[in-house]
Amino acid sequence: MNNLVQFIDLEAQQKRIYPQLEQRIKAVLSHGKYIMGPEVFELEQQLSEFIGAKHTITCASGTDALLMGLMAKGIGPGDAVFTTPFTFIATAETITLLGATPVFVDIELETFNMDPVKLEQAIEALLNMDRSKHPLPGAEYMSISPLKPKGIIGVDLFGLPANYSKINRIAQKYNMFVIEDAAQSFGASLDNHRACNLAEISATSFFPAKPLGCYGDGGAVFTNDDYLADKLRSIRIHGKGNDKYDNVRIGINGRLDTLQAAILLEKLRIFPDEIDQRNYVAQMYSEHLSGIVKTPFTPKGYSSVWAQYSILSENRGNLQKRLEENGIPTAIYYPKPLHLQTAYSFLKYENEDFPVSEYCSNHIFSLPMHPYLTDDQIFKITKIIKNNS
Ligand SMILES: *Cc1c(COP(=O)(O)O)cnc(C)c1O
Repeated sequence: MNNLVQFIDLEAQQKRIYPQLEQRIKAVLSHGKYIMGPEVFELEQQLSEFIGAKHTITCASGTDALLMGLMAKGIGPGDAVFTTPFTFIATAETITLLGATPVFVDIELETFNMDPVKLEQAIEALLNMDRSKHPLPGAEYMSISPLKPKGIIGVDLFGLPANYSKINRIAQKYNMFVIEDAAQSFGASLDNHRACNLAEISATSFFPAKPLGCYGDGGAVFTNDDYLADKLRSIRIHGKGNDKYDNVRIGINGRLDTLQAAILLEKLRIFPDEIDQRNYVAQMYSEHLSGIVKTPFTPKGYSSVWAQYSILSENRGNLQKRLEENGIPTAIYYPKPLHLQTAYSFLKYENEDFPVSEYCSNHIFSLPMHPYLTDDQIFKITKIIKNNS
């Protein structure tokens, strides 16, 4: 049957700001500066203000934002970068693209984010080559290339920041850097600091389905460090020096389109209101569903932007089926943790290496989440779950 509810309702949002979007797009068509036009710089300034970060470097996608961050830190073969296996492939993929090695660390069941206790165990295990302390990439792989712990990518899964007070402290202790994968958390906060400003470098995505999305691919890197910001701006445009025909390092073609910047400028204006609406929807879901399924937990001092509202249930298959029969779409993020993906079979991780991630893959699913869900829709969705639990 047709969906009664949209999983993410971009249509309702577009209707709300259509005349303004049209005006912005027309302005770009008339000035014709499709690459690095004035809207790109206007957006960067507004994003810096919104986040409270000194520098915003917009770019072509969240994946490029992560890649540029790792390139700015000079990551390459022989380097280990710690991250979780319960994330979108892009997080680990960028590490691998640079010839470095992702070393996976399991998540906390409560937050779906990296477990800082296990992070330190993993670093110690790697430093001592002691697999009894923590699962590591396969022995055969490691003997070819002994790994040095260099960095950590914390992932703010479903819009909830990871525990950066602990992650940053551990990084400092071992002289490592931290990149915040804030692809899902633009608009969230931790102890009154915005997500995208919780580590040395942060990377976000403006993919249409993210909390703040454009009408294509887009992303941004944030930092408070002047040196890194310069380097990131150079990497974004083919490692440019004075201009793009003066190349001082290896970079990428990583620019954000002017048209996407124009669209984001209008979406950013309504974003604070949309954050409130997202929180309202999440609160309603949790009120109706607590005690029936395992609802998301937001620790004290944290706020989520609810990129996804994800619940755990032993009865997932049946609940998804009942919801679908009633025109309610759901999704599973993520059906297979990264250490079990074919692409990462070369790391020789095994089943049960990361039991919390594996448990979540088998029991999690996400409900429709967007600022335009009505009380009636929320009531209908939660009623179906109640009646079938
Ligand atoms: C979406 C996402 C990315 C990649 O962003 P793109 O803009 O799609 O390249 C990276 N990490 C996480 C956690 C994501 O959800």
